[in-house]
Amino acid sequence: MIRQQRCTGGIWICCGGAKGIIDPGPGSLAHVCAAVPSLSPEELDFVLLTHKHIDHSGDANVMIECMTGGGFKKNGLIIAPSDALSGDDHVIMRYSQERAARIERPHNGKIIKITPNLTAEAVLHLHGTSECYGYIFRTPGLPEWGMISDSRMLPSFTERYRNCSFVSVNTTFPDRKKRLDHISVAEAKELLTGLNAKHAVFTHLCSTMTAPEGKHFLENLSTENTHVTPAEDGMIVDLATYEVSYGGEKPYIQTPAR
Ligand SMILES: [Zn+2]
Repeated sequence: MIRQQRCTGGIWICCGGAKGIIDPGPGSLAHVCAAVPSLSPEELDFVLLTHKHIDHSGDANVMIECMTGGGFKKNGLIIAPSDALSGDDHVIMRYSQERAARIERPHNGKIIKITPNLTAEAVLHLHGTSECYGYIFRTPGLPEWGMISDSRMLPSFTERYRNCSFVSVNTTFPDRKKRLDHISVAEAKELLTGLNAKHAVFTHLCSTMTAPEGKHFLENLSTENTHVTPAEDGMIVDLATYEVSYGGEKPYIQTPAR
């Protein structure tokens, strides 16, 4: 995040009649405005934070401002853990919360109805002292899919994500770091052997893995049953076919004509 070797704009989802942004970190709005094919921040229906850390929440208030028409219309849904919404150090401002039409605080197993055609089931994670949840999304006509956010690897994940045909996994380090609550590539590959996912994306990759000299860490990730793609900025996954394509960006800093 600090050097923006990879963007921290989060994941834009378009599914079940809703458009949402998950974990809008620093730069989210700039990347959404620059995205090709284009995305419209004012069309957002929900803003979801898996947890409140700054790389996941830096632009959360900004994206809520977009969702609520610059703060002028009460609109949209905020899904965020309690410690992101209240307490000593909450990251979603009261100002933003008052403008959303609905706020949902997840707990383990809670199924949140985003639209009549899209639900998100919260899966409790373990990530330092911050409250963190992954999700399983369900839409009629689409296979279910899940996202695993920042967490220590938990035995419950095998059971909870078992029916997902697609999973996105925050895979931070090549190997397990005992004292850090992040999933490693080694652990993620092991998890996949217990799931039924046809396709997985490993994202939230540390700079060691994304540096040119770290290329080998992101090779041969697929397992016997699961095709694994390492995430890239602008990557697009079709949730019906799991086809991966790559979008682009138009320059978003407009140089004034002289
Ligand atoms: Zn985190």
